[in-house]
Amino acid sequence: MKNSRRILVILLAFTMLFATMPELSVFAQSAESNGRLLYQGHGSLRITTPEGKVIYVDPSAGVGYDASADLILVTHPHNDHTALHLIQTRNSDYQIITHTEALVGGEYKVFDLGYVIVEAVQAGNNPNHSINLCVGYILTLSDGVSIYISGDTSTTEQMAEFAERKLDYAFFCTDGRFNMGIEEAIACADLVKARHSIPYHILPGALFDQALAEQFTAKNRLIIAAGEEIILEAYVPKLIKAVPTAYVQKLNGNMNNLTISVTEYFENGTSNIIKVTISIKNNSANTYQVGPYKVYVDTKGNVQIRECYIVK
Ligand SMILES: [Zn+2]
Repeated sequence: MKNSRRILVILLAFTMLFATMPELSVFAQSAESNGRLLYQGHGSLRITTPEGKVIYVDPSAGVGYDASADLILVTHPHNDHTALHLIQTRNSDYQIITHTEALVGGEYKVFDLGYVIVEAVQAGNNPNHSINLCVGYILTLSDGVSIYISGDTSTTEQMAEFAERKLDYAFFCTDGRFNMGIEEAIACADLVKARHSIPYHILPGALFDQALAEQFTAKNRLIIAAGEEIILEAYVPKLIKAVPTAYVQKLNGNMNNLTISVTEYFENGTSNIIKVTISIKNNSANTYQVGPYKVYVDTKGNVQIRECYIVK
């Protein structure tokens, strides 16, 4: 994650450096192709989706309320989560989803808004926060980036189910006064197993506290200071190997169909097959483009494969 912060810093540096130059499109585009998340402080977040939609979560703390809202999410009715008046402008078709819409008759709702899927999940579960009046949210952006926002909560039953979702970012409240404290939040992060676990809602009355944030020693910890904006990066599993195979189907006369497949194997156990079929003559030897790969295939007679390998 340090890398993405570095990218942001570099982008900002370039923006400032070339502020007067008209041709900044290369830098601007690379920043716009990812979503961004501004941690405004305490329990407040502003997410800008890859298509530029603006989502506020629990508006109350900090600054950055000048972007026109498309969606406002509220996790529960306490006043450190509901300062909706701070949001200065709203687009004509903006929506508000609160715990009231998100949790109806015990059912946690899912809202597919096109640019984001909003799933309400359990939250609260402590003396200050009734599980019946609080929700957390899992947001999935159009580029696949997923963000869990715990809301004000202690451990919930659902958290253990989130691990299989392989969430990208997960925010855990850690205040220890109205909700779970840092130790319990670390245990929750251990259940959820997100790619980045982030402490927030750290110290009631303060935007942020660096020393307390650092006590949150969860695996894959990411600390975002109040006022900091990060670039949201989708998970791209590393390619372990690409294996080519080929076979020939005999057609009429001298013509045959050559089918080449390249199977890609990734570190997370998934695989992907890229396949092309080409008309060839008997005894053809050539290099063919299969997705991003150049594959050399040497055939003998109608259907025999003599050699098949990826050309470096
Ligand atoms: Zn709160």
